[in-house]
Amino acid sequence: MRIELIAVGTELLLGHTINTNAAWLSQELAKIGVDVFFQSTVGDNPSRIKQVLSLASGRSDGIIVTGGLGPTEDDITTQAIAEFARRPLIFHPKILKKIRNRFQRRKIAMSKLNERQAYLPKEAREISNSVGTAPGFILFGDSPQKTGTVPIIALPGVPREMKPMFLQTVRPFLQKHGKTISVLVCKTLRTTGLPESTIAARVTKWLKLKPPVTVGIYAHLGEVDLRVMAKGETPKKAERAIAKIEKEIRPKIKDVSFGSDEDTLESVVVNHLIARKKTLAVVESCTGGLLAHRVTNVSGSSKILTQGLVTYSNKSKTNLLGVPAGLLKKKGAVSREVALLMAQRIRQTAGTTFGIGITGIAGPTGGTKKKPVGLVYIALATSQKTYCSELFLKGSREEIKWQATQNALNGLRLELMKT
Ligand code: ATP
Ligand code: MG
Repeated sequence: MRIELIAVGTELLLGHTINTNAAWLSQELAKIGVDVFFQSTVGDNPSRIKQVLSLASGRSDGIIVTGGLGPTEDDITTQAIAEFARRPLIFHPKILKKIRNRFQRRKIAMSKLNERQAYLPKEAREISNSVGTAPGFILFGDSPQKTGTVPIIALPGVPREMKPMFLQTVRPFLQKHGKTISVLVCKTLRTTGLPESTIAARVTKWLKLKPPVTVGIYAHLGEVDLRVMAKGETPKKAERAIAKIEKEIRPKIKDVSFGSDEDTLESVVVNHLIARKKTLAVVESCTGGLLAHRVTNVSGSSKILTQGLVTYSNKSKTNLLGVPAGLLKKKGAVSREVALLMAQRIRQTAGTTFGIGITGIAGPTGGTKKKPVGLVYIALATSQKTYCSELFLKGSREEIKWQATQNALNGLRLELMKT
């Protein structure tokens, strides 16, 4: 079954409100195996609303419209749907009574305008709204193009009203009337350390798969996700199909895959440290505490993180860590030598299994030809050895800081994999 989503509201077109309804509804529809091939947004304008309804009814099995069911003059969705479907608006005394009671309970006088909300297109079924005044409705009628029977479902724009109405009434309706309802299950395999194109090249074969099982690739800052999606008659069948593909893909991304679904790089690293009873201390310069912040976002991190220092000035690097002033002068604060010493010293003073030191230039100013913006040194000290990587990162100041912590966490993850 294909459902098309139409969001009504000039505020959406102007970008003042983000169309979160479409995102939420698409996710909910996917869970019950309903396809969403089109989403449109249209302003509070009757003829344009009718235009999108016409387009949608020609290419979909059902339409869900959100927004514009309120009592004010600019709320014209009901009127537009009625005109499109060539149905008169019928007054429902029962609906008016419900709206009136709602106002009475809240001890507020009902405006005459709210009476408009008691009108629904002829033959529409009310979807009651337990949170607000505007009722929704399902109109199950012929489309003017005679493309078959296309139900039009209208829901209020306010997300906290729309969501329960969808879950309580619309979802069961679709599950009952949808012809080929199946479930869609997704699993996200998360990777870090390689660019999207490299990962894509490793899994080209699977990216070409066609439904019912497909694989998509999505890059975010410092991470690339592979999303395996499967449709099946039952969740079990879909999960089995995903497991099969995952088994094939896993060996291709073994070195870069750190987890799946809700896992974050920091949660994976912290949990590895806890499981292995290892501890960590960090000292940061250009990342300003972001690494410690990410580690401490994970519940249970107090078991493994003993301290995080931000040594932003040269003086603090000397006073708090004992990095010789001469070395800072000779090599510069952003240098391999200083990063190594930072990691070693923090590990020694904290008495931890691991020490991490980060120093770099986050930009946008402060770069030179020899030491450009984005140059970051990340050192990891262990009881055996201290490693240092030199990175040339791209992006804004915050993006560079984020990627630096991503690399630091991934370096520690790879070290933990060895043990
Ligand atoms: P109301 O009774 O509040 O007028 P309504 O059904 O007429 O309800 P709208 O007037 O279209 O809904 O929108 C009311 C508010 O709901 C908007 O100001 C906006 O904050 C939110 N909203 C509307 N549509 C969306 C959407 N697609 N995604 C997220 N929020 C939305
Ligand atoms: Mg409104």
